Amino acid sequence: MSRILIAEDEARIAAFLEKGLRAQGFVTTSVSNGLAACEHARTGAFDLLILDIGLPVLDGFTVLRQLREARVSTPVIILTARDSVADAVAGLGGGADDYIRKPFAFEELLARVRLRLRTGPAPEATVLRAGELALDLRTRRIHVGEHPVELSAREFALAEVFLRNPDQVLTRAQLLSQVWGFDYDPGSNVVDVYVRYLRRKLGADRIETVRGAGYRLRVG
Ligand code: CA
Repeated sequence: MSRILIAEDEARIAAFLEKGLRAQGFVTTSVSNGLAACEHARTGAFDLLILDIGLPVLDGFTVLRQLREARVSTPVIILTARDSVADAVAGLGGGADDYIRKPFAFEELLARVRLRLRTGPAPEATVLRAGELALDLRTRRIHVGEHPVELSAREFALAEVFLRNPDQVLTRAQLLSQVWGFDYDPGSNVVDVYVRYLRRKLGADRIETVRGAGYRLRVG
């Protein structure tokens, strides 16, 4: 199981990352300043560091420099504000492996995380199953019984969240944050629209509406 250290001082973003990554089976630890990030990363107990640049005590660049000087080779993905491409480039020069600009969709971050961990410890199961559905994370294909079904990237991401949480009620807010990112307008009806697409492709009864609560993938 991969262990991820999150260094982010904005509580909302840290919580969003922790929740999302834990739902994907990662073990996470979160720190809110650069000094704590350094101390934790130096223990060597982490497989990946997600590092915000604007951190109190020591900024992300300093953390990165100190870690690389101390020969800590843990992969680092830096988080940077949308308009700070120069920051990102400097981060890569300073030994970061990748960067992602805020705001970001969770799906996008997850793809980067998986890429960085690819050579790490044993990967998780690549096929998720629930009832007749089988979703292959490697080939990005889904089958209903024997039949392959074509899904768009967004539909696939939504289906993945359902298959990771079979038989559980998922609120619109949960689905929004997992698939569209924390900055998405909570008043948007995009979840309902995509649930409708999935029902059309996977079978109308497959996803149940739980009134006033959200949606549930039926497995029976
Ligand atoms: Ca910050």
